[in-house]
Amino acid sequence: MTHDLHTALQALPPALTQALTPELTDRFEGVISAERFTQLQSLSGLESDPLMLTLLPLAAAYAITPVSHFRVGAIAQGQSGALYFGANLELVQQNLFHSVHGEQAAISNAWRHGESGIRAMVVNASPCGHCRQFMNELQHANQLQVVLPDQGRQALSHYLPYAFGPKDLGVESGLLAHMDHGLQHPSRDPMMIAAVAEANASYAPYSSSPAAVVLQSDDERLFCGRYAENAAFNPSLPPMQMALSAMAMSGVPFHRIRRALLVQKAQGQIDHRLASVAALGAVSDVALQTEAV
Ligand SMILES: [Zn+2]
Repeated sequence: MTHDLHTALQALPPALTQALTPELTDRFEGVISAERFTQLQSLSGLESDPLMLTLLPLAAAYAITPVSHFRVGAIAQGQSGALYFGANLELVQQNLFHSVHGEQAAISNAWRHGESGIRAMVVNASPCGHCRQFMNELQHANQLQVVLPDQGRQALSHYLPYAFGPKDLGVESGLLAHMDHGLQHPSRDPMMIAAVAEANASYAPYSSSPAAVVLQSDDERLFCGRYAENAAFNPSLPPMQMALSAMAMSGVPFHRIRRALLVQKAQGQIDHRLASVAALGAVSDVALQTEAV
């Protein structure tokens, strides 16, 4: 457990510190099941929103912010009722557009764990314009509630009136909708199998360029990132960023990356390779393997 996580844990109400300390192991991926969340409400005596706000410093403890030193903690509550932590990630010596925002990290965490919608986004600072636009890409975005420490609950439309979104570009689905791009590859390599599956689940309605990145750590764990496009293009989340965020939200340092694989659709409109190499190169000397399928 990192010093930051230990500090955040110790600062919680004692009942929560006691309940969560055994769970925040090296295998914790920033996920609290709906059942466990209900138990934590009973243990702490806190209602749902106050409890999620109380847990935010735990999420923020996973932030990596060498540039801003500003830690964003976000918790996405999925349609299942489960909670997914997110934190911001900045890549030192890379352009700022390589950054992952806390809300993006929380949504991608929920997506990786099979959620098809987000009920609420709880965050410790007002969402920036980039994140408001990113959240507007979610399917059922019109039902999404944003919860801030001093503002209570508000619909996303309160923060993003007169929004431009997928429907303006003729896209009827949304981020977290079930996808299958039909990509296939005969390889039996577990990383390749994982990467093809993740690429098939990626969301690329504007460029038709599905892609995914899988990172393997020195203990052979796999961390996956899917490409997530956005109607406003720039808030799109590249697959390498999502994979690095998955590692960060599991508390695994980047120097433990041993292998990195990008899988992308052959003849897609976008080539993810150069951006992926740049982002990976900020944190690792491992060479990126690229496969077009
Ligand atoms: Zn943001």
